[in-house]
Amino acid sequence: MQPQDIIAREDRYSSGLYHKRPIALVRGKGARVWDADGREYIDCTAGIGVAVLGHAHPVVVEALAAQAGRLITAHELFYNDRRAALLERLHAVTPPSLDRFFLSNSGTEANEAAIKFARAATGRPEIVSAMRGYHGKTLGALSATWGKNYRAPFEPLVPGFRTIPFNRSEAVADAVTDATAAVIVEVVQGEGGIRPATTEYLRAIRDACTERGTLLIIDEVQTGFGRTGTLFAFEHHDVVPDILTLAKSVAGGIPMGVTAFGDTVGQLAKLSHTTTFGGNPLACAVADRVIAHIVETDLPARVATAGQRTMDAIRALGSPHVRDIRGLGLMIGIELKRPAAKTARALMDEGVLALLAGSTVLRLLPPLVIEADELDTVVAALGRVLA
Ligand code: PMP
Repeated sequence: MQPQDIIAREDRYSSGLYHKRPIALVRGKGARVWDADGREYIDCTAGIGVAVLGHAHPVVVEALAAQAGRLITAHELFYNDRRAALLERLHAVTPPSLDRFFLSNSGTEANEAAIKFARAATGRPEIVSAMRGYHGKTLGALSATWGKNYRAPFEPLVPGFRTIPFNRSEAVADAVTDATAAVIVEVVQGEGGIRPATTEYLRAIRDACTERGTLLIIDEVQTGFGRTGTLFAFEHHDVVPDILTLAKSVAGGIPMGVTAFGDTVGQLAKLSHTTTFGGNPLACAVADRVIAHIVETDLPARVATAGQRTMDAIRALGSPHVRDIRGLGLMIGIELKRPAAKTARALMDEGVLALLAGSTVLRLLPPLVIEADELDTVVAALGRVLA
């Protein structure tokens, strides 16, 4: 199919909800993707931080093919070997206090469950989130998500939600009361502009939650599974959540969400929260192999080195158009003094695909397996478009 044909057909029938770039991606390998014209790009989007092992990684391909030929679907009303293996593996890589895992299909669902579990466990109505936070766009998760443009068309949202300033530790204690079921926060705000939380802020939240019997929900949908140079970003701060939410990279590109919890949530009422597709053997089989591969190859350590090296190289460009460079591991934000969309477009012409995080921040979320020379190519392209 011709590229123009693909674009015309999508434009005719798709929801119209996305800003689309005028290329059609049809193939990928490692950190590279190809469009319908056969043009090659280095992919610093990775499906928005999803393809941790890159595209067409043999671990993903083999797990998927093997399980597809064996059993794709088996609802959680039955037991399944692949699900059992994944649950055990999730427990092995998360803090010991988190020993229950609700499996779903996306980030917003992982957070939706977390919010509901916190309300059910505490019997309290309030949920506190941070300014510029992003937790998804279903009605519950959206109620914890910042941004008038996302929220306004759908009001009234769920009652009981309020926001506190991000990284202002002194504002935390007063905001968490005996009516607060949970505080939900990202360790590095992704959509909000690649803004790392300080240890002081996260500890202040942890302390206030512990003191008030409030649950701490850490949203690692974007940061989880090695992205920031540790398996989970909260490890940088020595803060353990009551509920941990994961998605994006957990199954290397196959949709999956995870809500991890433990004794502080306790036993949930049967059927009070369920999903048809959640925990399907196909996604479980892939997630189990992907997590094993990340751990066995110590991918987070590689990410820490590659990320630091890349951020240093971008700083060394000394571009007059750059206001700030932020990030952790291979989650990199370049805040510009001008709108970032034009720069992303220019980068695409240079053969590099990058994301935005707000109107002025260029965001890089490459596959974690990206090679050093590929990152050098990305930095060189940035040098040209930011000269
Ligand atoms: N939480 C965070 C931190 C995210 O970055 C995202 C997605 N960008 C979500 C939740 C929502 O995930 P999904 O798009 O899979 O619903």
